Amino acid sequence: MKRLIVTAVAALFLAACNKDCDTAATTQSTDAASPTTFKWKMVTSWPKNFPGLGVAPERLAEMVNEMSNGRLTIKVYGAGELVPALQVFDAVSQGTAQMGHSGAYYWKGKTEAAQFFTSVPFGLNAQEMNGWIQYGGGQQLWEEVYAPFNLLPMQGGNTGVQMGGWFNKEINSVDDLKGLKMRIPGLGGEVLARAGGTPVTLPGGEIFTSLQTGTIDATEWVGPYNDLAFGLYKVADYYYYPGWHEPGSMMEFIINKDAFNELPKDLQAIVRIAAKAVNDDMLAEYTTRNQGALVDLVEKHQVDVRPFPDDVLQKLHVLSDEVVAEVAAKDPLSSKVYESFSAYRDKVKAYHAITEQAYINARD
Ligand code: CA
Repeated sequence: MKRLIVTAVAALFLAACNKDCDTAATTQSTDAASPTTFKWKMVTSWPKNFPGLGVAPERLAEMVNEMSNGRLTIKVYGAGELVPALQVFDAVSQGTAQMGHSGAYYWKGKTEAAQFFTSVPFGLNAQEMNGWIQYGGGQQLWEEVYAPFNLLPMQGGNTGVQMGGWFNKEINSVDDLKGLKMRIPGLGGEVLARAGGTPVTLPGGEIFTSLQTGTIDATEWVGPYNDLAFGLYKVADYYYYPGWHEPGSMMEFIINKDAFNELPKDLQAIVRIAAKAVNDDMLAEYTTRNQGALVDLVEKHQVDVRPFPDDVLQKLHVLSDEVVAEVAAKDPLSSKVYESFSAYRDKVKAYHAITEQAYINARD
């Protein structure tokens, strides 16, 4: 009898079933066809939780977890935990990890054009880089550059204009760059070499000791916030500005395309929006913490902060333009990216001369 009643109630319920029931049933069958939860790994080029750079991927993972209600969880690995710092590109390309956080200029050996997507000496600042990537055709070109590697790139933060670096030798003229042994990676290093210096590439963890022992005469790193954390003021006499070599270094999230395509549309949107949020957040954080750290460096640690002489910057600018044009000549894709980047830089430079720059001059 009880069974009969239950059956009757169920039948009534089914008969009364409205559109909601159909939706529920459809959702259920879709979920059965594809996994409802996804677990990703994200490899990074920074020490775990390193201020700024290493915090950004953790923030993305938290946001994605919250926005997806746990349907997509991302475990973040510091440099060397799953793969070394400079194998992030390969690891994500091959699917060892679904996602990575790094800087495109590290992948010069994979594709020359990658060098346009972090920072170019005397190139775009953070605001301009956002403009080029989001509205000036940069994103499409970046995707074209990474497509052969099965990677989808997204902006992943920006440090803003970096500092010129820490020096144990005064830089009063172009001649003072001759013989200078400096830790400075990428295109900036190539420019220094043409000015007669010796660029050295060292991971962050080895900078302090190398400067202390005199293995190098100078180093750049990021800016006051990160440089203070490394204690570089203890082993250098002068802190020069500006960071002509990295006027707005953009970080990247890279995603394995197969992994991304497996996600339902809503999770794809969540990843994109979280990356955008992190891109915005990092610049705001650096803008705030760098100025506080600079005050500490000057007031608590009596750091001697100096501008590079004008003629030194002029020489570096000329050399930089040569170096960047040579990258463009290496292959058709680099040339295509260079054309877009250079055209954007020329136009935004003219406009910012009478807006941002004029305003900052007037305010000062
Ligand atoms: Ca740097």
